[in-house]
Amino acid sequence: MIVEMRAGASQEQLDAVISRVHSLGFEVLLNVGTDKYVVAVLGSNTGQVATDAFAVLPGVASVTRIMRSYKLASREFRPGNTVVRVGGVAIGGPNPVIMAGPCSVESEEQMATTAQSVKASGAVVLRGGAFKPRSSPFSFQGLGDQGLDILRQVKALTGLPVVTEVMDPRQVAEVAEVADILQVGARNMQNFALLRELGRLRQPVILKRGLSATIEEWLETADYLLAEGNDDVILCERGIRTFETATRFTLDVSAVPVVKKNSHLPVVVDPSHAAGHYELVPSLAKAALAAGADGLIIEVHPNPVEALSDGLQSLTFSDFGRLMDELKALGEGLGRPLQTLA
Ligand code: PEP
Ligand code: MN
Repeated sequence: MIVEMRAGASQEQLDAVISRVHSLGFEVLLNVGTDKYVVAVLGSNTGQVATDAFAVLPGVASVTRIMRSYKLASREFRPGNTVVRVGGVAIGGPNPVIMAGPCSVESEEQMATTAQSVKASGAVVLRGGAFKPRSSPFSFQGLGDQGLDILRQVKALTGLPVVTEVMDPRQVAEVAEVADILQVGARNMQNFALLRELGRLRQPVILKRGLSATIEEWLETADYLLAEGNDDVILCERGIRTFETATRFTLDVSAVPVVKKNSHLPVVVDPSHAAGHYELVPSLAKAALAAGADGLIIEVHPNPVEALSDGLQSLTFSDFGRLMDELKALGEGLGRPLQTLA
């Protein structure tokens, strides 16, 4: 349930609403808008309380039940777009953000050359996994702590903010020291212990859509982060399982406008994991931008043939440069020029 206060409602009036929420046994999450407070009343059986319990209180403008299964991620809770700021980059604002880099951190040289190249082409965030969630335990699992050290060095070298995956709640503090954005991989979308831990951070999180998750289930998991007080949540569509086998996953382009309509959170698209093949990545990237994505996250490798993971879907530097030229032109055409570094 959402209790919207009138513009200019007093602190006492707000406090009275909050104490009524508590006296009914529910919890409060406060959204401080530009000119008014919005109080989310959270609990498993708020449906049993009449909206009048709040509507009668002074200073209350309206009381609305959120009929969706996700609450805090919904536009009903927060009508304006959430903009996530990291370094000089804003995700969810008027200018789409391009993030690029290898699937896995493999060496300092690999990361440094990739970072310099994608930066020169116009990427504003660097990606690279130190801890890798591989389908098989016999596949390369990432360099772990050594990978984090490499990310730290390359960040210092290029100034690019870094996004990297965290797989375990026990790793959150360590990864958060290096990462500007922490990535929850598709396979961990419903790792609730991890989400709660990340919710207690005050650092941006990219929440990838699970391989077989509906948009509703995905937004419910975003609520885990938001309910712990972390507002800096970025959603990432990365392809879902369908009957189609011509691509690794099926990019659900529809997810972009659906999320934009129903949620205030920014949504970016990962065309690389959806496509599974480098030849398909540019088309999916352009489709996602045209559909209104707030950004793209693209795998790029200095020598994809030698990549320790996801080489087949990784772009070379020159392919990425060409794609960036097309994305810049497309962004201009859409009236949404790509974000550049300040
Ligand atoms: C990745 O970003 O390299 C990755 C493993 O992505 P996903 O979780 O979407 O499969
Ligand atoms: Mn990958």
